[in-house]
Amino acid sequence: SKAKLFDEKTDTRTSFKDVAGLEGAKEEVEEIVEFLKHPEKYTSLGGKIPKGALLVGPPGTGKTLLAKAVAGEAKVPFFSLSGSDFVEMFVGVGASRVRDLFKQAKDKSPAIIFIDEIDAIGRARGKNNFTGSNDERENTLNQLLTEMDGFGTNTNVIVLAATNRADVLDKALMRAGRFDRQIYVDLPDIRERKEIFEVHLRPIKTAETLDLEFLARQTPGFSGADIANVCNEAALIAARKEKKAVSKQDFLDAVDRIVGGLEKKNKIIT
Ligand code: ATP
Repeated sequence: SKAKLFDEKTDTRTSFKDVAGLEGAKEEVEEIVEFLKHPEKYTSLGGKIPKGALLVGPPGTGKTLLAKAVAGEAKVPFFSLSGSDFVEMFVGVGASRVRDLFKQAKDKSPAIIFIDEIDAIGRARGKNNFTGSNDERENTLNQLLTEMDGFGTNTNVIVLAATNRADVLDKALMRAGRFDRQIYVDLPDIRERKEIFEVHLRPIKTAETLDLEFLARQTPGFSGADIANVCNEAALIAARKEKKAVSKQDFLDAVDRIVGGLEKKNKIIT
């Protein structure tokens, strides 16, 4: 049913406090929050509010989280859709799904539309990587461009899209008045990993004061999603042993387990 297809939430629970690190990216999206909250302040001198921004970076680095935080901070509804849905669920109806999504968002504006994995629909024409016909993917992409071009100056819907492959995207998407801003969301450095641990340790009962610097040092190359996973896994490991609180060793065991999973995923044989 329609209601299930678009995950519309007035997500006031996610805020910038939930997003650790990513200072540069946060600064850029803070401006989008301001556009959503006080559009008239920006349009009063004849300027046009941007319609879209592309969040670019590796998997699990917080792109979805950041988009939700924008909606949460601006207190506007969050409509989301994943490019892979078009491959798996919307075959044959991609363009009409895009039209519906934009209509719903405009009806509820100000609003955020978030399109995850936009590369699944936004690949450069002629490079087929879509199970539907290439014509269909192009129709879907064209509808998306049409919708964005059709926004009036007072529509106040901002489209955020995420990808880890900005290089494969159709250049038409990046043209002025579409996704003309790119915001980089990189893997966290050691200081940022420490901050991400801080966020994800909030709900966890720990046995000792953990040395977050030490944990950050043990997790080079980990994404925010991997770190969230470590914290959760550590709590489960400790609970399995019927412990009252999570210890440093539980965290180290969890790190080992996640490293094992990552190695399998990357097909590294050790
Ligand atoms: P993908 O490209 O795979 O969709 P993504 O970049 O959208 O990934 P998210 O889905 O936002 O990543 O991240 C997954 C989870 O990882 C988040 O819900 C959060 O728990 C955690 N996480 C990722 N990055 C951060 C961060 N910077 N601060 C805090 N938590 C983070």
